[in-house]
Amino acid sequence: VSVSTNTRVDLDEKIMNHPCYSEEAHHYFARMHVAVAPACNIQCNYCNRMYDCANESRPGVVSEVLKPEEAIKKSLVVAGEIPQLSVIGIAGPGDPLANPEKTLATFKGIREQASDLRLCLSTNGLKLMDYIDEIQALDIEHVTVTINAVDPEIGKDIYSWIYYNGKRYKGLEAAEILIKQQLAGLEALTERGILCKVNSVLIPGVNDLHLKEVSKVVKEKGAFLHNIMPIIVAEDTEFARRGIREPLAEELNELRSSCSGDMKMMKHCRQCRADAVGLLGEDRSEEFTKKHLETMTSRY
Ligand code: SF4
Ligand code: SF4
Repeated sequence: VSVSTNTRVDLDEKIMNHPCYSEEAHHYFARMHVAVAPACNIQCNYCNRMYDCANESRPGVVSEVLKPEEAIKKSLVVAGEIPQLSVIGIAGPGDPLANPEKTLATFKGIREQASDLRLCLSTNGLKLMDYIDEIQALDIEHVTVTINAVDPEIGKDIYSWIYYNGKRYKGLEAAEILIKQQLAGLEALTERGILCKVNSVLIPGVNDLHLKEVSKVVKEKGAFLHNIMPIIVAEDTEFARRGIREPLAEELNELRSSCSGDMKMMKHCRQCRADAVGLLGEDRSEEFTKKHLETMTSRY
């Protein structure tokens, strides 16, 4: 495929300004997640719903949920305080597209009031196709889709159920619908020039031998970056009940290098919380809570 100079420059810029897409950029540019999306439309077996979405975050962390207007205000305040802030993302604490009004209202407000900030979305992908036009219209430049399997036979052991178009599905049928929507969404996003990262949770004994295939398929669908993250087994989850263990560092590294022939692998992910603020290595979320913001907003 030939890429025109303009598109190439555009792509390089998108990569260079996002701390998660460029290992180099993560030293210079900061990101902030705003937690406006509490509900979720699927049940992953590594999630107990007490904490932030484990597709993007470390289990055990509970972010402070904000209303869209609070999230917009917070973005403006933090942009004033942290000049390196380049990206505002929505990654939970549930699934952003299971809370479409809140998510889209937040992005719209930031787009209107702070047009130099780039927008980023993380989703399980179930509802991507429903909101693809809005994502493009709001100029959301980066989207992360968590894809743990491309084979429904494996997916059925990872997801207990999905809630899709007013109906609950379980087992193989749930995994078939979810995977179909994720891959269609990924393809549609990349066709529209939106830079996509795929997160996959490495679950020993469940999808470890399958992730190479996932890497291959998501590359074919246009993903720019693959981020394989280790499962963190949280209490009160289906995987904790099944006795699933966390992978060893060597297992994770080995898998990442065996996939790296297929596509670019992310190695600097910090599994940030849904309200993370700052450079990737230094989370300042505690500093910018609702309470502190009230005292700060008078300055902006
Ligand atoms: Fe939990 Fe996120 Fe999975 Fe929803 S998509 S069940 S919030 S890990
Ligand atoms: Fe970037 Fe990983 Fe943090 Fe997401 S969770 S903002 S991909 S470092």
